[in-house]
Amino acid sequence: MIEIFIDEEKCTGCGECVRVCPKGPRIYRIVEKNGKKVAEGLDRSFCIGCTTCVSVCKPGAIRLVRNW
Ligand code: SF4
Ligand code: SF4
Repeated sequence: MIEIFIDEEKCTGCGECVRVCPKGPRIYRIVEKNGKKVAEGLDRSFCIGCTTCVSVCKPGAIRLVRNW
């Protein structure tokens, strides 16, 4: 199981994580919180651990932690 942590302070809501993730909309969606767009994690169980989302996230807002 992989845990995905999104740093909402760093996230710009650009949507690149949703766009590049092979399981995109199952794992990420962009929501508005306190007038700011941020990525929100949905169902992590779809994650295959490819780390593409981490690579494209320019502000470095995504952290993956493998729990096995
Ligand atoms: S790629 Fe990074 S900055 Fe862009 S929406 Fe996803 S988590 Fe936020
Ligand atoms: S590691 Fe790969 S499968 Fe997992 S959330 Fe990121 S882009 Fe999607």
